[in-house]
Amino acid sequence: MILSALPNCLCCESRINPHHSARKSSFYDVDYCSTYCRKFVEEGHKMVNGMDKTGHKNMKGLEWWPKLSFDCEVCGDAYEVNKTNSKLLFCSNYCSKALQKNANIRKASNLLATFKMMQHKRKYGNEKGWLSSNSIYEIMKNRGDVAYNSYPSIFKLWASKGLIEVRSINNRVNEYRIAERFITEPIGKFMIQCRPKRNC
Ligand SMILES: [Zn+2]
Ligand SMILES: [Zn+2]
Repeated sequence: MILSALPNCLCCESRINPHHSARKSSFYDVDYCSTYCRKFVEEGHKMVNGMDKTGHKNMKGLEWWPKLSFDCEVCGDAYEVNKTNSKLLFCSNYCSKALQKNANIRKASNLLATFKMMQHKRKYGNEKGWLSSNSIYEIMKNRGDVAYNSYPSIFKLWASKGLIEVRSINNRVNEYRIAERFITEPIGKFMIQCRPKRNC
């Protein structure tokens, strides 16, 4: 991709590369550089004036990005995020580690990233979020995460638990999307509750 052709974030105007982004939360978004920036615009937040923030008159001309509230993927609690660390999915290191430890799934954080990407596609993408396992594999490979070439078998499990929906095209190629309730519900929490070999 030619550098000058890269889109600018609709919020902060920084360049975004949806295919090879260093910012993990932005790889699937061609409109915003981060989930922070998308939330800032969608929820109609305003910059914080320097005088309001510090109480000093001479700071009046300065503006700050406000802290925004996100819901933790693991415990579901709200936590505040600065613009600079907007790639975070978890309220704390504790919750970040809890996913790996308690979900008992190999590379659970990579799988969560895959599900988050599918969540984003369901919310904002075309085709109501349906993706073939090949395109999921390609997106995750471009992102630089471990890409599972065994998505069909992994997804079969999560479809049986209700996290994923499956449909077959022409009786052979399967397509997948995140189930509707997980457009808003924390996915990591569900992965822990309904981990493999557990009935739920
Ligand atoms: Zn931005
Ligand atoms: Zn948490």
